[in-house]
Amino acid sequence: MKVAVIGGGWAGIGAAIELAGAGVETTLFEAGRSLGGRARSITVDGHRLDNGQHILLGAYREILEVMRRIGADPEQLLERRPLQVVDDAGFRMALPKWPAPLNFAWGLLTAHGVGWREKFATARWMQGVKAHGFRLAIDTTVAEWLDGAGQTGELRRHLWEPLCLAAINIPAERASAQVFANVLRDSLGSAQREDTDLLMPRVTLGQLLPEPATRWLAANGSTLRLGHRVANLAPLPHGIAVDGEIHDAAIVATAPQHASQLWPALAAEFDYEPIVTVYLQFAAKTRLAFPLHKQSGKYGQWVVDRGRGLLACVLSGHGAWEALGEAELVAALVAELALPTPPTWHKVICERRATFACHPNLARPDHRTPDPRILRAGDYTWAEYPATLEGAVRSGRRAAHALLGNDYNPTS
Ligand SMILES: Cc1cc2nc3c(=O)[nH]c(=O)nc-3n(C[C@H](O)[C@H](O)[C@H](O)COP(=O)(O)OP(=O)(O)OC[C@H]3O[C@@H](n4cnc5c(N)ncnc54)[C@H](O)[C@@H]3O)c2cc1C
Repeated sequence: MKVAVIGGGWAGIGAAIELAGAGVETTLFEAGRSLGGRARSITVDGHRLDNGQHILLGAYREILEVMRRIGADPEQLLERRPLQVVDDAGFRMALPKWPAPLNFAWGLLTAHGVGWREKFATARWMQGVKAHGFRLAIDTTVAEWLDGAGQTGELRRHLWEPLCLAAINIPAERASAQVFANVLRDSLGSAQREDTDLLMPRVTLGQLLPEPATRWLAANGSTLRLGHRVANLAPLPHGIAVDGEIHDAAIVATAPQHASQLWPALAAEFDYEPIVTVYLQFAAKTRLAFPLHKQSGKYGQWVVDRGRGLLACVLSGHGAWEALGEAELVAALVAELALPTPPTWHKVICERRATFACHPNLARPDHRTPDPRILRAGDYTWAEYPATLEGAVRSGRRAAHALLGNDYNPTS
């Protein structure tokens, strides 16, 4: 079988590795000069950075499996730490290295900045949600879900709403409660303690997966067409023409707005949300007490310690920051951080279509299309999750397995 994978983001990478590993003649077409898509490395003023700060969770099992398979050792490339949510308003929840669910229970009960009554009410609520398998009777917004559960206190402000914004990239007032519940099921609610861990990249995003995948695919007989934007996809009786080249099948692993340009039957309508990453270089000895810190000022949401004084401030979704110019935004974030010395360098990177907007009851297509020889992959097709690296990789692997005629069962 000869298969074209169109789009070399994490979904296309997942698909191509699965196909090449099964001995399929695979060609991966990527419009950019390197693999990675929305999660790639870039060079700015001599600094090797990511196009946007990314956080991975222990629950990202398929990514970890793919990394191991291609010789990118997650233990070396990712720093695994039990989850802590710490903010500058006095809230702190730190999970111990105990078996689940004791780790979350203990973290919740010992959280700073929350009263006992609220802690017990939340523990009871989580038990109930778990007892229902994290399935909600109807999908609604996260805000309405929390209101209905009486989650209106400090934990909502310091835990649930920031986690929702970080995971789904839209505020609780607009985010799908069912998708948020799915994220909780596979992270804080998981029976495996490791799933609740934070995985902080020690290297750039490119070094985690796209660069090792480029080497592995080339070494395993795949053809990589970097810098090739496919303009034409045509299902013909004797095969699928990809810019005139005949393949037996194709996996379209582009973002949704590009998929429909290739073949109208792939049209899927979404709204999109931005993510801004503001890199600030401080003196090399500058450290955060914990590498992921929740900010509670007007603009900053999360700040990540990238080591050697480089901090990455992340602003998810539409918000007040959009009214500011670049210099004003940098000044506002620096003021909120209130570090003793000013930064010596900064870079603002805005990804305007970082994620699709994961509203309640959003219609999400899966891998199937009207032509069984053409499959779809991409974060938007993995309906269990919001736009995530893990959803992207799972979607790519699922599409590849569908072509190979296998069932696909993710490891969690
Ligand atoms: C700033 C930012 C921060 C994020 N933070 C997180 C995070 O912390 N954790 C997390 O899990 N997720 C995060 N995400 C989401 C995550 O990056 C995405 O869900 C994931 O990268 C999507 O991968 P994908 O392969 O589905 O799509 P994409 O990455 O969009 O890949 C599609 C690829 O197709 C290529 N392409 C398009 N058209 C063509 C064509 N005609 N021919 C050839 N190639 C084509 C594109 O160049 C692109 O490389 C973040 C995203 C951004 C932007």
